Amino acid sequence: MLFSEIPGLLETKQLLINSVKSNHVAHGLLFDGKSGSAALPMALAFATYINCQKPSETDACGECPSCQKISKLAHPDFIYAYPTAGGKKVLSENFIKEWREFIRQTPYGGISEWLEFIEIKQGNIPVEESRQIVQNLSLKSYEGGYKIVLIWMVEAMGQSAANALLKILEEPPEKTIFILITNNIHRLLTTIISRTQRIAIRDLSDEELIPYLINIKGVTAERAPKIAYLSEGNINKALDILDKKDQNEKDWFANWMRYCYAFDLSKLIPLADEFDALTKESQRSLLDYGLKIIREIYLKCISADNLIKLEGEELQFVQKFSKVFKFENIGQITEQISDAQMLIERNVRAKIVFLDISMQICRLIK
Ligand SMILES: [Zn+2]
Repeated sequence: MLFSEIPGLLETKQLLINSVKSNHVAHGLLFDGKSGSAALPMALAFATYINCQKPSETDACGECPSCQKISKLAHPDFIYAYPTAGGKKVLSENFIKEWREFIRQTPYGGISEWLEFIEIKQGNIPVEESRQIVQNLSLKSYEGGYKIVLIWMVEAMGQSAANALLKILEEPPEKTIFILITNNIHRLLTTIISRTQRIAIRDLSDEELIPYLINIKGVTAERAPKIAYLSEGNINKALDILDKKDQNEKDWFANWMRYCYAFDLSKLIPLADEFDALTKESQRSLLDYGLKIIREIYLKCISADNLIKLEGEELQFVQKFSKVFKFENIGQITEQISDAQMLIERNVRAKIVFLDISMQICRLIK
């Protein structure tokens, strides 16, 4: 994770960078942000910056061996702890594969998403984890840089786990930095808070979130402010809204094609009403999604499988429907959908447009 991958929060990034440049990095830091905030990505970006071999004024290089290893969460001098469950002996290292995948998929995810991801109900950081950290820090650094201990959701440490760390947190070995992350500072022992420097991670402003949604996530300029409004500056929530929409579009389009294939008017007419009730932007976005899938079906039909970028259910759908779509008709179906988009832009009643293309598609895939 690099600073540049995190939207906004310039003042926090600057503060952290300055502390490295002036050699004033505290040996214990507490990144304090709400669930869904950038606390964990910011901590990772900071850790990357600290150990980067060629840092710039504003970011780590992202390319040196240290940056590469941290980006894969596989740096030998990097120790992670996070909530797990399954008994005293089940420590974070037992979940390292899941942890890497979780951060890759949902870097802004919170504790409930993590627990769901590893399929446990309640997680904690046991005292054995603290002992393991202490033992680990007694060994020399592998690569000569800083050893970094990153404890995510430090509030999941019980009193004994926290107590077992207090001494080393107070006086860590040379070139060791503790980065603690919390979503709920009120649940922390004051002894932990007093031994660390607090870095507040605030919510994003609309001015920070909207350009990120448009430029990085490909959201339209019309829709981005609505998502920013709904997510109240919480980046994880904003990304969640995007994902849900994708999920809905996928199901919606798959159903539509199935009804067309079965020529099932009892399903197509209510679907047209549903379509009619959507905002113009959602209508356009659904049809855009349809065009994208049909393009993939076309690639499948011409056996250009290596160009297909889909996976999971979407890929299955494309594989199945590439057998249903007649290759010579794909061009016409694409044209029908593009025409429909144009008619909707011109305020032709969406229900009529939708029923009309549905009939055309029924005919073309029969
Ligand atoms: Zn680097």
